[in-house]
Amino acid sequence: MKKNNRSYFKDEDIFKLIAEKAPVLVFLYRSKILYANPYAINILGYSEKELKNKFVWDIVHPDFTLLVKETIEKRLRGEQIHREYTELPVKTKKGEFKIFRLYATTVRLKNGYGGLAVGVDITKEKELEKRLYEEKEKLETVLTHIHEIISVIDKKGLIKYISPAVEKILGWKVDELIGKLFIKFIHPEDLRRPFFVKREVFSRAGELFTDEFRVLTREGHYRWVEANMLLPVNWKNLGIEGPIVSMRDITEKKLAQESVFKAIYYDPLTGLPNRILFLEKLKDALRNSSLKEDFVGIAVLDIVRFKDINTLHGIRVGDLLLKEIAEKLSSVLRERDVLGRFFADEFGIILSGVKGYTGLIRVLEKIKSVFDQPFIIGDKYIYVNVCIGISVFPKDDSDAEHLLRKAELALSKAKELGAGSYAFFSSEAEREITEIAILRSLLKDAVRNGEIRVYYQPIFRLRDMKITGLEALARWEHSELGLISPAKFIPIAEEMGIIVEMGYCISDTAIRDLSLLHSEGYKNLYVSVNFSSKQFLEKDLIKRIENNLQVYEMIPESFIIEITESTAMKDPEKTKELFKELKRIGIRTAIDDFGTGYSSMSYLVEFDIDKIKIDKSFIKKIEENPKAENVVKAVIHIASSIKSSSLAEGVENNTTLLKLKDLGCDEAQGFFLAPPMDFDSLKKFLERYEGH
Ligand code: C2E
Ligand code: CA
Ligand code: CA
Repeated sequence: MKKNNRSYFKDEDIFKLIAEKAPVLVFLYRSKILYANPYAINILGYSEKELKNKFVWDIVHPDFTLLVKETIEKRLRGEQIHREYTELPVKTKKGEFKIFRLYATTVRLKNGYGGLAVGVDITKEKELEKRLYEEKEKLETVLTHIHEIISVIDKKGLIKYISPAVEKILGWKVDELIGKLFIKFIHPEDLRRPFFVKREVFSRAGELFTDEFRVLTREGHYRWVEANMLLPVNWKNLGIEGPIVSMRDITEKKLAQESVFKAIYYDPLTGLPNRILFLEKLKDALRNSSLKEDFVGIAVLDIVRFKDINTLHGIRVGDLLLKEIAEKLSSVLRERDVLGRFFADEFGIILSGVKGYTGLIRVLEKIKSVFDQPFIIGDKYIYVNVCIGISVFPKDDSDAEHLLRKAELALSKAKELGAGSYAFFSSEAEREITEIAILRSLLKDAVRNGEIRVYYQPIFRLRDMKITGLEALARWEHSELGLISPAKFIPIAEEMGIIVEMGYCISDTAIRDLSLLHSEGYKNLYVSVNFSSKQFLEKDLIKRIENNLQVYEMIPESFIIEITESTAMKDPEKTKELFKELKRIGIRTAIDDFGTGYSSMSYLVEFDIDKIKIDKSFIKKIEENPKAENVVKAVIHIASSIKSSSLAEGVENNTTLLKLKDLGCDEAQGFFLAPPMDFDSLKKFLERYEGH
């Protein structure tokens, strides 16, 4: 071993070579520094001599003095201590600190142990880091204190960042939100808003999206926010996961808007829509109804001598009365009807989805019935009388404002007629309504007076043109009004609730007439009777028919119950049960006007149907429209598939008849073959026909 005071290692040359050249700090030390490389001397600013005279722990930051001292003492005792990448501030001659990332280890020196430290100057990096940290702190402080939530949402919709302000605004802690789906915090009704569904922002970086929606608070309420959403163009380079969303609480503004909205569109006393909103709602109703070809009734209602009530009882009572009237009116109207208040004592009502004038009258009577009883305000009983003016869409007009004005014109007409009256705008409506009103009053006695007659239309078997049966069709024979069509009075009877009794009277007559025909030799004829839904679903139906048949000693097979598809589908399960029961007894069933209503194929299979009557609208078109012919063909096919027979209604000429024969239809009826006729004419017809 070479004896040399200045040599520390065996491979001293290599060590020196590296240490002298490398841009890193190299120290070899015991308590004091034994060797410092030129880089270290240069960067720290001490002379070599100065440096060698210092205890190592004296040139480190005071926070580390103790640690360094202890470590060195351990090294000197030969303890192997490795420190990798500790960050150590070292004092320069100027008294500043340079931070080194150090690698230090215990080394064996010629005369005992010491330490070797190699360090990279990271002062600049550290400063940058510190500056960044300070910037971040500043930003966080700003983000905490501005009244806006900043968030970053990634492609999966997860919240990657949310600013601390969220706690103040929504109550959530940042940690409770990070990593959660953003849309989970949005009001369900607002989810359809465009920028959430479409991931548009990702394809349109740099573009600003703005929207308003409600977000959930920690307490379970919602607050309105206005959100601006933007994906920075260079988002990927910036390491941002997705768009930056900034949300501003606009709840107060929204509430204010709402109250403005209320002030503009609602009557403050009753809370009902005012005339402006009423008109808007009317426009909506007209749009919807024109699609469905429904009626809309517009009624304007005025309280008779409301001023007197005010003068007599005081304005406060007057107000309470108006509120009470509004409430009572609402209670008789259906969900979709709209009630509004225009001026002091004028109310407006939109009645949509009304089926014809009969339906309209019914609602009007319900409305009028509100005023049958006195209103009780405090200890006062106040009788109120009203006049009502009505216009009807689409008959009177198709424009909302015109319709309302026409209803108001009708109101002045009603006022002329006197307290408690109503008037329609058009004279045609007036006529129809009057007619219905007259028919209603007369129909009450029609059954008792024996004015309901039964006509019969023969039904022919196409195979051999034999008459197989008769359809019973009701007629009302009034001494002054003449013969009234069932299309007119059946709906009224139905609505008045007298259809059931009337129906039994008709089927009773039909069975009696049929028994007469049977006894005269027309043994194989059946009679087919129409039943409306109220009749069909009536609980005693089967018992009473069965009873009737027994009285006249008729076999059940000679009776057919005809119902339409819509009657059958009103309560499909019940229909299925009834059909099964009828089948058990032997009474036959037919589906009337097939193809015009809605019926489900699956029920068609489940119901036990004997006959399908193809609606006359298809039969009429069979000649000119090949599509109609195909439909008829298909229905005939369906009928045979479910083992029922097919019957064509409304045969009006020979061509149609031949076509139906061709298509394999089983039976037919129609003006061309024979019109509906009274019993005497029928008997004559049968005699003549059988004679041929
Ligand atoms: P519906 O059951 O479809 O009756 C067939 C209607 O077609 C009858 O009208 C009949 O006179 C008519 N008709 C017959 N042949 C032809 C033809 O070749 N061409 C045309 N265009 N029509 C023809 P009606 O007697 O006026 O009866 C109308 C509707 O009133 C019936 O339609 C039925 O739904 C109902 N109705 C009739 N009588 C009763 C009844 O006793 N009870 C119930 N609930 N409804 C009845
Ligand atoms: Ca029928
Ligand atoms: Ca029919």
